[in-house]
Amino acid sequence: MMSDPNADRPPVTVVGLGLMGQALAAAFLKEGHPTTVWNRSPEKAERLVADGAVLADTLESAVTASPLVIVCVSDYDAVHELIRPVESALAGRVLVNLTTATSTQARETAEWAAQRNIPYLDGAIMAIPPVIGTDGAVLLYSGHKSAFEAHESTLKAIAPAATTYLEEDHGLSSLYDMALLGIMWGILNGFLHGAALLGTAKVKAETFAPLANTMISAITEYVTAYAPQVDESRYEATDATMTVHQAAMEHLAEESEHLGIHSELPRFFKTLADRAVADGHAENSYAAMIELFRKPTA
Ligand code: NAP
Repeated sequence: MMSDPNADRPPVTVVGLGLMGQALAAAFLKEGHPTTVWNRSPEKAERLVADGAVLADTLESAVTASPLVIVCVSDYDAVHELIRPVESALAGRVLVNLTTATSTQARETAEWAAQRNIPYLDGAIMAIPPVIGTDGAVLLYSGHKSAFEAHESTLKAIAPAATTYLEEDHGLSSLYDMALLGIMWGILNGFLHGAALLGTAKVKAETFAPLANTMISAITEYVTAYAPQVDESRYEATDATMTVHQAAMEHLAEESEHLGIHSELPRFFKTLADRAVADGHAENSYAAMIELFRKPTA
């Protein structure tokens, strides 16, 4: 008789079955983990139950079904509304919170968990639901290291190629999350503004996209080159000076104004560059902008 290859897969509980929670539970099921689920609106579990998940009657029975409990709901108010009434059931189990938050909220939740003997990991999901369970998914974890090590193989069901532990500081995964989202919006705003600019000459966004992607790839080299400059606070311009960037930004802003499209974004870039130049960085590389970003907004 053939033995079941999934017989030794540890059980896992997923609390919260929105778009993301459903994708997480489906990934655990796909990897053969006995998966218990719970959601405030139980009808969202229907498809998962058809695929083999167990829908718990109560949140408490969901928590006690597994040594690893994943929570993924809208925000941390909802997280606390859920976990506080079941804190004694959670004691000794590993709680992994994949709800998006600020680093302060993550650290406060970690303190709450530590006071109750709940090993806690805070995580950030750098993926959309259809990518969960594929090699494109990136999951960042910070907090209780031995809890991560104990459950790493189970957590890999969500992000097989990039299940990444950062550090003990529970706030770090949220900080990375915010930093990476900032990059995403910066790039997307640049692309969409460029598409609007080219649209005035009837160039389709689809025509622009391949060159936009080439530019985005080239920027990865700037990131690699500027990172040590940022760390060492030394901004030798081996490519272009701030003055050169400043002049090109003025062209972008003027072009946008002249063509009657949105110019606030390039004007904002230029305002920041003007400030860096006024602060003495005219001959420095673009990395000198970090000096502005490190200070609070005046
Ligand atoms: P969603 O589809 O809106 O689902 C929200 C979930 O939170 C539902 O399960 C909802 O329960 C539950 N919930 C909200 N308030 C609650 C409360 N007071 N008590 C109990 N349950 C409550 O959101 P989502 O896309 O799954 O996102 C969930 C988390 O993942 C968010 O923090 C989001 O930032 C993060 N995330 C999402 C994505 C993405 O692409 N979707 C990517 C990265 C990170 P009901 O079903 O009963 O309403």
